[in-house]
Amino acid sequence: QIQRALRSLSIPLERLHIMKGHMMQDMCKGLSRQTHAQAKVRMLPTYICSTPNGTEKGNFLVVELCQSQVRTLLVTLYGDGNMSPQMVYKIFDLPEGITQGEGEALFDFIAQCVSQFLAETFSSDTRKSEERLPLGFVFPFSCRQTQLDKAELLYWSKGFSCSDVVGKDVVQLLQSAINKKQELCHVDVVALMNDTVGTMMTCSTEGRTCEVAIVADKGSNCCFMAEAYLVETTDETSGRMCVNTEWGCFGDDGTLNDVFTPYDECVDVESNNPGEKRFEKMVGTLYLGEIVRHALIALTAEKAIFTETNIAVLEEKGVFTMQHVLDIINNEEGTSDVKRILEVLGLQPSERDCGRVQQICRAVVGRAATLHATGLAAILSYMCQTRDMATLMVNVGVEGELYVGYRRFEEILMSVSRLLSPECMATLLPSRDGSGRGAAMVTAVALRLAAQRREVNEVLAPLRLSRADLEKVQALMREEMERGLCKETNATASVRMLPTYVSHTPDGSERGNFLALDLGGTNFRVLVVHVTEEGISMISEIYVIPAAIMQGTGEALFDHIIDCIIDFQMKQNLVTDMLPLGFTFSFPCQQMGLDKALLLTWTKGFSASGCVGQDVVQMLREAARRKQHLGMQVVALVNDTVGTMMACGYDDPKCEIGLIVGTGTNACYMEEMRNVGTVEGDQGRMCINMEWGAFGDNGCLDHIFTHFDKVVDETTINPGKQRFEKLISGMYLGEIVRQILMVMTEKQLLFQGKLSPKLQTRNIFQTKFLSTIELSNGLALRQIRAILNELELDASFEDSVLLREVCQTVSLRAAQLCAAGLAAVVEKMRENRGLDQLSVTVGVDGTLYKLHPRFSNNLQKTLKDLAPNCNVSFMLSEDGSGKGAALVAAVASRAANTME
Ligand code: ADP
Ligand code: MG
Repeated sequence: QIQRALRSLSIPLERLHIMKGHMMQDMCKGLSRQTHAQAKVRMLPTYICSTPNGTEKGNFLVVELCQSQVRTLLVTLYGDGNMSPQMVYKIFDLPEGITQGEGEALFDFIAQCVSQFLAETFSSDTRKSEERLPLGFVFPFSCRQTQLDKAELLYWSKGFSCSDVVGKDVVQLLQSAINKKQELCHVDVVALMNDTVGTMMTCSTEGRTCEVAIVADKGSNCCFMAEAYLVETTDETSGRMCVNTEWGCFGDDGTLNDVFTPYDECVDVESNNPGEKRFEKMVGTLYLGEIVRHALIALTAEKAIFTETNIAVLEEKGVFTMQHVLDIINNEEGTSDVKRILEVLGLQPSERDCGRVQQICRAVVGRAATLHATGLAAILSYMCQTRDMATLMVNVGVEGELYVGYRRFEEILMSVSRLLSPECMATLLPSRDGSGRGAAMVTAVALRLAAQRREVNEVLAPLRLSRADLEKVQALMREEMERGLCKETNATASVRMLPTYVSHTPDGSERGNFLALDLGGTNFRVLVVHVTEEGISMISEIYVIPAAIMQGTGEALFDHIIDCIIDFQMKQNLVTDMLPLGFTFSFPCQQMGLDKALLLTWTKGFSASGCVGQDVVQMLREAARRKQHLGMQVVALVNDTVGTMMACGYDDPKCEIGLIVGTGTNACYMEEMRNVGTVEGDQGRMCINMEWGAFGDNGCLDHIFTHFDKVVDETTINPGKQRFEKLISGMYLGEIVRQILMVMTEKQLLFQGKLSPKLQTRNIFQTKFLSTIELSNGLALRQIRAILNELELDASFEDSVLLREVCQTVSLRAAQLCAAGLAAVVEKMRENRGLDQLSVTVGVDGTLYKLHPRFSNNLQKTLKDLAPNCNVSFMLSEDGSGKGAALVAAVASRAANTME
């Protein structure tokens, strides 16, 4: 019988594996919005999203409500890594009956304890009267928390049943009680937490964060840092949040029934909450002595033990305490202690009885340790999986009577959890000071974060544009467009509104073979484009333009271009044909005709001499003549925006706007000829290359430029120029982010105030980093760390989260400004055409637009908001520069034919 009893108390490894799986399922259930309400493992959010970083300092008051005591604690942190906090504490016994009385009396008593403690701790002259004293409240009951300082009690436990508290905010109740006392008017309750959370924070110090805590005490519970986006019961989506698992209720749905022994059943039936907290009743020290007692009663009845003694004393609930159990099992040499203990209880055990009692005690306590290990394994595997890691290393804080009192607890916890979760490596950190110190840390962290949040908001505020700001930008863009179109004001307008001499978008009837050049994008390319009934096909080749040629003479540049064309035509066997050529030239030009375009200024790193003010088409033709190349005829020069619009227009006739958001940004659209004051004629339409990158160069956007924008502008090769572009496009966003990071680091908001030399390098922070960083949710935050490590920055988790916020702010502003510009364009088109509602398509190109995870969404959302009467679709352009240039050439010849 003894062997059977011992067997029933030992759970096989396979069964533990299954249990671990159930625990993980229940955790997911508790976190999910749909199933949270029914879940047994409640997974309560704590709103604690950050562990201490050692910079916290000041005085913090902690009040801990315990089983039969109120503990008050004053912690002084020195910002020294929290290595040596100074602590003073005092313990008050709860008056008889107060735990069953009125809630108000309980909270009044707590306030009274605080008052008395402070009176004894602070002599009246040491305290500066104006100084606030933050208080952290450790409240070891299940609460539905909605903020760090807002927590509704779900239900009492541990023998408490005060009236009028369940369903109320206990922070509020404590603050009200405190407010009744004049001498406590400087005390603010700023944080509430569970004792488990307090333990986790107690074990965290600088450079050694603790992300899991187990309290193995009268009851049992565990908390850990979960990815915030998985905590669906809160709106927090970034970073991590501590979740209070309330795992004591695991098994309340029956999943533990098969491992429940008859002794457990007896304990459960005799408890004041039968059927509830099944896991806790197998592992909590409040119950272990009881389990042993029931086992002994049952075995006596089976005549397996105590055959020669009367066990009537064992009938009384609670006579066999946890202390008895611990004394019995911790005595490893023989049974003399066992005998003494049993005799003190009033039994006369035989030598054999003593041995068997010891075996039973070991089995019950060993099982409790094993079950804790199983729970821990579930937590660790869950963390490892949700962090998308192959292996997890984590620190686990532990405290409680079972941990402290049972010598083998740690060994079992570590070895069994290792067996069940081999991918995880836990390091136990004993909590020496209980949860009080941790509570002070939470309170301190809460204050630090609140202060930090205020500072972060201050830094980012100028980059956050209101709807009114955007409307203003839209109105200003509209004004500048009018000024650019008008002959008299064109010269001084910041938006040049350059005529392109493209008057038709494609209609699909275009045919022929064309050459195309693409100069001014990231690559210089030569293409051959076949436009047939079946569609458009093309072959292209990328050629390098050496920096020496970009910055050499114009003649050398165009000679080089012709060399590339000749090489391409040879390779493609096109030397014998005389092909029309469309030239995508993505620099601002004053066009006098489709094939006549004076370069206004170089941008994007080009500076070849003798070109500005010259006709680019003419220069290309002259180079061809010099090289005696006859296989081509330049028929059109096209801006890349126009090429993009044309390429998309081939598939969608409603495409009458072109937009680029790549290295730079620019747009074009179909304007009524009657509005184009800079070109003769009133009939039909013409595509206008806005050159909107220069919007604001006349100072009209000064009110939205921030300190960061000014610094970025000053370090470019064209300060004061392309101001709108410098807020939006790929060449600059990373650099804006870098400037913000530097300021935030200086303000100690990031990287613990340490700037790496790399981060101080201009343009080191690439715009593509924004895409990676903003794409990552909690799951991929490590990619952010990878980027930061690349920049030789040692980033904490909070740093990563803040960095993402900075990137989001910068890219959102860019998208919104772009939308404000587009809103001006579509509204003008709608008014031009006298429509209530305009339906139009924007052809878009540019890597930033295409690859950034939020840019296009933010752009479209803002545009809808700013131009509600326009129904705007967006179409990505596939190789607009090549295709577009060919189509311009084709449309031009078709239009010419029609005219004839
Ligand atoms: P261009 O405008 O010169 O024709 P692209 O459209 O390819 O060239 O844009 C290049 C710009 O796109 C670069 O300035 C770079 O900063 C940016 N970029 C590159 N990759 C990404 C990415 N993954 N996310 C956002 N921006 C990117
Ligand atoms: Mg391009």
